[in-house]
Amino acid sequence: MPGLAGRIALVTGASQGIGRACALELAAAGATVALAARNQARLSEAVSEIETAGGKAAAFALDVASEESIKSAAKAVLERFGKVEILVNNAGITRDGLMLRMKRTDWDDILTTNLTGAFLLTQAILSPMLRNRWGRIIHISSVVGRTGQAGQVNYAASKAGLIGMMRAMAREVASRGITVNAVAPGYIETPMTAVLNEEQRKAMLAEIPLGRAGTDRDVAQAVAFLASDDAAYITGHVLDVNGGMFMG
Ligand code: NAP
Repeated sequence: MPGLAGRIALVTGASQGIGRACALELAAAGATVALAARNQARLSEAVSEIETAGGKAAAFALDVASEESIKSAAKAVLERFGKVEILVNNAGITRDGLMLRMKRTDWDDILTTNLTGAFLLTQAILSPMLRNRWGRIIHISSVVGRTGQAGQVNYAASKAGLIGMMRAMAREVASRGITVNAVAPGYIETPMTAVLNEEQRKAMLAEIPLGRAGTDRDVAQAVAFLASDDAAYITGHVLDVNGGMFMG
């Protein structure tokens, strides 16, 4: 496991699923982890799990759909830890529907949470990261942002948007020792995908050469690698964690 001892990390959407697994993985690698999301009870459970395992963590209330909440959470994390060296923009939602019938609010809500939230939070922690001259920014995109998916024009746009933003930003901050990358998970078993029915699940599995769904830990290990010094020469990259579902 890559060494992250002494590093300060902030993970959004850390109350369950992939974000929670990222927080656990980064903490196990030695980072002090700020876990942020709306559900404080679940965040506290994750913090306890990290502390019981000997790691360091704290919970912060964050709604990435609210600019005010983003500003106050970033302020609280910076006041507590002085800096954020590793930012994992993981919080995300789906609101599926065919394009013809999609409501404007379903478009706006997805873009606000999945893309604008990542932009605003990154902006809020960036000045101290630039001064620190070391940083790792990792966006959790999706295979759907690379391939598209019927019924997900809003979600696909938000996840492809993260990739464009990531590449532009990687060029802006590279001279300060900051790398910016994306991880694009395929079909991962989490509460988000638990809503799929058996038929949809079978159809997904048929598309995966490795023959199984991914786990939240599969994604978290890729994130921990990109966060480490071992990944110092990787920036502007999309790391697919999809069992071969899409080979870009
Ligand atoms: P999940 O189980 O539904 O978890 C989503 C997390 O995001 C929760 O912790 C939730 O926390 C948080 N979140 C949602 N809205 C938020 C908001 N407004 N403010 C703050 N936090 C918010 O989903 P997951 O499967 O772990 O997905 C995590 C990320 O991976 C998402 O960006 C998703 O698009 C991406 N992804 C997932 C898959 C997959 O197959 N599972 C595949 C590709 C990409 P609270 O409700 O406590 O706020």
